[in-house]
Amino acid sequence: MKVSVKSKDELARMRDACRLTGEIRDICAAAVEPGMTTADIDAIVRDFCAKNRAAASFLGYAGFPGAICVSLNDEVIHGIPSAKRTIMPGDLVKLDVGVCKHGYNGDTARTVGVGVTDPKLLALMDVTRKSLMAGIAATGPGVHLGDVGAAIQKVVEDAGFSVVRDYIGHGVGRTVHEDPPVPNYGKPGKGFVLKPGMTIAIEPMVNAGGCGVSVLEDGWTVVTDDGLPSAHFEHTVAVTDDGAEILTVPYDY
Ligand code: MG
Repeated sequence: MKVSVKSKDELARMRDACRLTGEIRDICAAAVEPGMTTADIDAIVRDFCAKNRAAASFLGYAGFPGAICVSLNDEVIHGIPSAKRTIMPGDLVKLDVGVCKHGYNGDTARTVGVGVTDPKLLALMDVTRKSLMAGIAATGPGVHLGDVGAAIQKVVEDAGFSVVRDYIGHGVGRTVHEDPPVPNYGKPGKGFVLKPGMTIAIEPMVNAGGCGVSVLEDGWTVVTDDGLPSAHFEHTVAVTDDGAEILTVPYDY
């Protein structure tokens, strides 16, 4: 497996691309409200990318038709923005966005609860974000990806939720998906060993029920098999000399 180690100059470009990616993630999160369609969110991303002379990494990727993935409730990831899809009170809205600038990509996601008061849904979001932060805290030079996955898995399973197995994190850089694969589960001391200068997207997808997922007939949207909700948080991080740096701007909460 060939995993790129970024030079100082490349890391500076990554930082720029990732800062934009984090900005548009939070702009979309602040904009989400009932009555809006998922295509409205897509339009915000396209406008932001045009203004910043950047490209939406997912647009056209393997034929994906949107500039952002917007997945609701039991949809886990890869939801296609649509003018026919209206956001309703109580929805869990997962925003997953990538931006390419100077030839480098950022990839980040967050889940927004639209007027959500159900304690189980609030816990699902909270645990997913905390599992991501635990994965990032475990990341560093000489660390096995099994250590990162195990840290994520422990937070999720201790809370009684399940980690999606069929989709995982990944390296990110000149392309939005590259080696190494970054599972959200694993065994400490096993798997690929990280080095300073590697940049990876860590992205736990956490289901309220079982871990089983399937792809809808649109060929993209991944949904839970049991119809229960799912949450998703993601950051692109750089492995540093003594830990990890969040490149996609920490969440504002
Ligand atoms: Mg990703």
